[in-house]
Amino acid sequence: MKLNELTIKEASEKLKSGEITSQELTQACLDEIEHKDKDIHAFLLVLKDEAIKSAKESDERYRNNQPLSQIDGIPVAIKDNMCMLDTKTTAGSKILENFVAPYDATVISKLKSAGAVIIGKTNLDEFAMGSSTENSAYGVTRNPHDLDRVPGGSSGGSAAAVAANMCIAALGSDTGGSIRQPASFCGITGFKPTYGAVSRYGLMAMASSLDQIGPMTKTAEDAEILFDLIKGYDEKDSTSLSFQTGGAQDLESRNLKIGIPREYFAEGLDSEVKKVIEAAIGKFKAMGAEIIDIELPNAKYALSCYYIIVPVEVASNMGRYDGIKYGFSAEGDNLLEKYINSRSEGLGAEVKRRIILGTYTSSAGYIDQYYNQAQKVRALVKQDFEEAFSKVDLILGPVMPTTAFKIGEKSDDPLKMYLSDIYTISVNLAGLPAMSVPAGNIDGLPVGLHLIGPQLSDSKILKIAQEFENNVLSS
Ligand code: GLN
Repeated sequence: MKLNELTIKEASEKLKSGEITSQELTQACLDEIEHKDKDIHAFLLVLKDEAIKSAKESDERYRNNQPLSQIDGIPVAIKDNMCMLDTKTTAGSKILENFVAPYDATVISKLKSAGAVIIGKTNLDEFAMGSSTENSAYGVTRNPHDLDRVPGGSSGGSAAAVAANMCIAALGSDTGGSIRQPASFCGITGFKPTYGAVSRYGLMAMASSLDQIGPMTKTAEDAEILFDLIKGYDEKDSTSLSFQTGGAQDLESRNLKIGIPREYFAEGLDSEVKKVIEAAIGKFKAMGAEIIDIELPNAKYALSCYYIIVPVEVASNMGRYDGIKYGFSAEGDNLLEKYINSRSEGLGAEVKRRIILGTYTSSAGYIDQYYNQAQKVRALVKQDFEEAFSKVDLILGPVMPTTAFKIGEKSDDPLKMYLSDIYTISVNLAGLPAMSVPAGNIDGLPVGLHLIGPQLSDSKILKIAQEFENNVLSS
């Protein structure tokens, strides 16, 4: 096995025993990037010199028997909407073309203090708005399983980088599915924690009431290792939570009650994907879980609700990109013209669409009809889940209605693109933890199984996912 194919767990054991060095591991990833990324384009920036320097420092710590954590010396890639000190951070937007972040996001500080080797910044849909990584100002990322297909989005660069073994693990962000969707399309593990479980400080805001950072890894075990490192209360993010994990150890699929929402298996779900998901549910049954049919009656409104709330928050958050404070700046005869030109030239079509929609639906005269109604629907979506979780421990279903679609297939039709978010967004509206775990393939294209749990059940989901993974591997 090539070193870059190792998981965090495997690599950290080999580093500890002295069998490999972080420099060898890092070089193996850099070589793979050199070899594959011309075609895949997962990275916007490869931090070659910095990575080699961090790897050397890590090796020194291992030599002294003083590794800082299980992540010490492990090459990790970061979605390019997380600020990293003195490093170009673009969010996939032309408006941040030459923006160099003046500080580290909390997740980056945590990775650095744990000794991680940050190997590069990955491509994404502009400001994380999209489901295919086609909305980046810096070109599309391709799916490593089929280069004519999208990797999913918006964390498509991170997913492709992990799937193609160009790094050992990565971070992504999920506002409506952006960790889970690309994880499903690329055949990796993607975990979206409970809203607030990981600090958003230094994450470029898309929709602040939904955004959440999480791990994208080769296994569920790795997702847990990375999550345990980045989670926790942060005084710089007032929505961050301090919560204790634990209690998950004694959980076993044997006494689990699993809910299957009827609504997730209705029209629109590809019949082959459905078979893979049903087979995965069958595995849980064989492991001893009790399968219960449940209803999420308001799930059908979640998509419309999300696409009202998100643009309103986007319109507000994007106000800061005026061509003066950060990055790209266009010419103009006066200040107003400068603003207009910078935003017209600096922002892409999807971002503009959301700014216009969000400004409209939150303006006086329309706010009651749209935004305020959507907030009420959001409460109902949340209530559905609360009711379901009074009967079951976990919900299972598909992450995506299909396998990865072709590049260009949906990019001219925003509504078609939005529809691919159908199973992922209600989780964000309710602030729940959820995960995509590889469940099988159809014609060589991966399918992800969706695990959804009640708020703060993060450790439980991660443990159950590991059990499933072990079960799949041993069957
Ligand atoms: N595809 C969804 C959207 O475009 C989700 C994006 C995300 O989670 N960042 O809004």
